[in-house]
Amino acid sequence: MNYIVFDLEWNQSNTGKEEEVNSLPFEIIEIGAVKLNSERVKISEYHQLIKPQVYHELHHITQKLIHVQKEELEKGSSFVHAASEFLDWCGEDYIFCSWGPLDLVELQRNMKYYGMPPLNDRPIAFYDVQKLFSIAYEDRKSRRSLEYAIDFLNIEKDIPFHRAISDAYYTAKIFATIEEQVLSNVSYDTFVVPENKKKEIFAVFDNYAKYISREFHDKTEITADREIMSSKCYLCHRNLKKKVKWFTPNGKHYYCVAYCDKHGFMKFKIRIKKSENSELYVVKTMKYISQEEAEAIKVKKEHTKEIRKIKKQQKIQNKDSDY
Ligand SMILES: [Zn+2]
Repeated sequence: MNYIVFDLEWNQSNTGKEEEVNSLPFEIIEIGAVKLNSERVKISEYHQLIKPQVYHELHHITQKLIHVQKEELEKGSSFVHAASEFLDWCGEDYIFCSWGPLDLVELQRNMKYYGMPPLNDRPIAFYDVQKLFSIAYEDRKSRRSLEYAIDFLNIEKDIPFHRAISDAYYTAKIFATIEEQVLSNVSYDTFVVPENKKKEIFAVFDNYAKYISREFHDKTEITADREIMSSKCYLCHRNLKKKVKWFTPNGKHYYCVAYCDKHGFMKFKIRIKKSENSELYVVKTMKYISQEEAEAIKVKKEHTKEIRKIKKQQKIQNKDSDY
């Protein structure tokens, strides 16, 4: 399998002059990519400038950032031509890699805008190299700039940043340094949410598991789904007894803690997200935690309850004072 390390540059509405097109807030104006073989050695490069068709003025930030002139872009190819050429160049057996999760979303959104067939009919597995960098060298949570990572790894800065091809080139250099075992941390792009149960994602990683659901119309439908609200051990697949029942501090994230005799405490987290079609879907993560962490979640739940109680009392008081 090859790795397609790619980077896009995009333009946006220049406030006041051109109206923003809702279905295309960011118009891709450059594609740069590096193809690595299974040993993560560079075997090919792709670069294309794209002639703007929606936003003709270059946004001041874009202009400052990427040093591309309008005249240069006018000579570029159409998006549909460039994207088809790029996808042909990618070949058959590959996985996308990019610095952060945004490029893959914008690629699909631009393709959709021009009526191109979707890249996939379900979430796409890809490598977020910015995340891999954090897992390999930092704390898993921090997200650094590309240049920071290049400096951190003492990689020679032999070409300027912020052009699609150079950023792809540097991202590929960083990606090549990531230890093999860290590559189990694949990400999923959810521009296309599973349309049915069959296409749902269930992935097990080094120390947690992730489930991406099909679409739902509303929250009630989600919280009524027995499987989503279940607390199964992702290693031995048994239904576990909940030690802290589901609660939500904010209506978006839900937590619960269960206990497996064999594997210990397990934390479940549900995040309700909005899909591109304005429906809802669920990302549920399952992770083994220490007893201390389990206690901390219990405290969090009690805290949530307290706050709710206080708010309720305030409401009653406000009502009373209305009379
Ligand atoms: Zn278990």
